[in-house]
Amino acid sequence: MKRIVIKFGGTSVMDSGRIKHVARLVESVQKDGYEVVVVVSAMGHTTDHLLQLAADVGRCPNPRELDLLISTGEQVSAALLAIALEESGVKAQSYTGAMAGILTDEHFGQAKIKHVHTEALLAALKAGYVPVVAGFQGVSGKGDVTTLGRGGSDITAIALAASLAAERCDIYSDVDGVYSADPRILSQAYKLPSISYKEMHELACNGAQILNARSVEMAMRRAVPIRVRSTFDPADSGTLVEDSPHHAGNFAGLSCLTTQSHVQLHCDAGGGLRSQSWKKNIIALLLEAGIHVEVGSTLKGTAGQLHFAVERADLAAALDLLAQKTGETIPPVVDNHLAKISVVARDVRSSIEVESIVALTRAGLPIVMMTSTEHRLSLFVPIELRESALRVLHDKFAFLKIAA
Ligand code: ASP
Ligand code: MG
Repeated sequence: MKRIVIKFGGTSVMDSGRIKHVARLVESVQKDGYEVVVVVSAMGHTTDHLLQLAADVGRCPNPRELDLLISTGEQVSAALLAIALEESGVKAQSYTGAMAGILTDEHFGQAKIKHVHTEALLAALKAGYVPVVAGFQGVSGKGDVTTLGRGGSDITAIALAASLAAERCDIYSDVDGVYSADPRILSQAYKLPSISYKEMHELACNGAQILNARSVEMAMRRAVPIRVRSTFDPADSGTLVEDSPHHAGNFAGLSCLTTQSHVQLHCDAGGGLRSQSWKKNIIALLLEAGIHVEVGSTLKGTAGQLHFAVERADLAAALDLLAQKTGETIPPVVDNHLAKISVVARDVRSSIEVESIVALTRAGLPIVMMTSTEHRLSLFVPIELRESALRVLHDKFAFLKIAA
């Protein structure tokens, strides 16, 4: 029998009415001839509320206790959905992450799945039950409850789909697919029928809040096709994330991230070779301290300078380290008011890079820094110009898409 994992996000199970709606949807997937495993997120903003409660009673809660606390949100949804399914005549059983055999490392709050012991879920399926698994959690080798990081129920869904050899993982939420840009900002954005794992991963890492980035990486590694679809329009086929994309042309989409700072350092020694090793040493220093930085370039060139982006949450630690260890006399220049606009495409190194720079410059939009990978070009612009930058770039590349 064909097998599928379907995951419902927090808005899909926000209240009892929606849980009943989801139960009907699960039933219809089962009637389509699938063996179904369901993964659920916590209802609405439950996780945020639980974290707030912890903050109300403790200044610096132990991560172990936090994980036990926030794992309960998903357990509530799982049990309620199993009850709703039984009510509509579908045999169902709810599972915590531990009961579902999800073994993780001991990194509370950011645990990684080491193995899924599938025996319990396979036995449930064999007995004709729909297992409803609480997402976002597992159990460590020591028996402690762990959580997988914010948005981690997507990771649960992909891990189960891979371990149970499901033909696909459908991720239902209130968005009906992956768009060429955030449709709430650009009304002309269009839905992509499909997108490659690598492109989706770049979008997910750079501000598109559709899928958890680690889940996309896992899906790519373990070859699990994902369909992103809407709980409220289940007939729509949404967007398929898979190996070979069918989106026309080179351009896939745009995303926007506003959580990073730009840091600029000047080398006392000026340009040349000394400046090269100075840059390498500084980057190594930050990376060794576990601070992820992305080194960039500017239109004017970066001789004698180092430009990088860092998550704002890591900025203070990065600046402290630079002040303590480098003995540089010129203080870093920090800009916290930037948006990182990313153009994601099959190949950005062809014409996308030049065309993006020309389009933004012609529109009078300054580019503070640029970074790139094979599938992404990111342009840092002043935060108040982010919508204009998105519009200019979308007009540019969506036009090419229509012409393709
Ligand atoms: N409830 C968790 C969170 O809000 C996990 C998830 O939604 O996937 O981060
Ligand atoms: Mg949630």
